[in-house]
Amino acid sequence: MMDNIKTSGIVIKSKKYKESSKILTVFTYELGKINILAQGVLKPNSNALAYSEIFSTSDFILKKGRNFYYIVGADLINSNYSLRESIESMAIGFYLIDLVDKAIPEEEKNDKIYNMLTKALEIIQKGSITNIDLILAFELKLISFVGYKPDLTSCIECQTLKSTQWYFDIEKGGILCSKCKNKSSIKIEKKFIRQMIEYINLPFDNINSEIIIYQDKLIMQETLYKYILDKLDIKDLKSWSLARELLENSLA
Ligand SMILES: [Zn+2]
Repeated sequence: MMDNIKTSGIVIKSKKYKESSKILTVFTYELGKINILAQGVLKPNSNALAYSEIFSTSDFILKKGRNFYYIVGADLINSNYSLRESIESMAIGFYLIDLVDKAIPEEEKNDKIYNMLTKALEIIQKGSITNIDLILAFELKLISFVGYKPDLTSCIECQTLKSTQWYFDIEKGGILCSKCKNKSSIKIEKKFIRQMIEYINLPFDNINSEIIIYQDKLIMQETLYKYILDKLDIKDLKSWSLARELLENSLA
């Protein structure tokens, strides 16, 4: 018989299954992204409801079945409940877990992304950095962790450090000088590049977020979002359109 597995995990998707059960997609520390069949959680009096909610983080004891993992025991660590208290924080939380879901394959441990997501959910609730900074930093760190860190130090074609104008190239994943740019390269100001480097290299709380202004961050995000969709080979994310609308109307 297989041993039980002990791991913490964050619920990133949840859907009803049959009368009273749920299939949870859980991003676990030890096993990466897995599907758990949480039997009977929707029955009245079930004490399992709390840990089967999206954003909830719990310590699980699991056993592996043929198609799913099953819960032997679970202790709720953090329901991240205050994420649900404003539409904006909920929308951003949904977008981040959606991105993680799309970025990571099943059953592959990734403690860097796990820790980053845990931290990001905490930051949305604490508000220690603004939502747009959190999103940009999260997107850049995530795409870097899965192997597509954009090359922002010099022209990716000729390695020059000097150019009067810089361009971001989605396909090549980095910056191009004015000599090497092509039709699809997107014009990018030098301060945007400096801001991106901050987002990639520094912990969320230490980022100097004042290199570019809020409106410019929204512009930068459009380019980055295209970059992410291209590298992860995914279509537009529904979770993003709501988050984007809220950010555009935010006064930050
Ligand atoms: Zn060049």
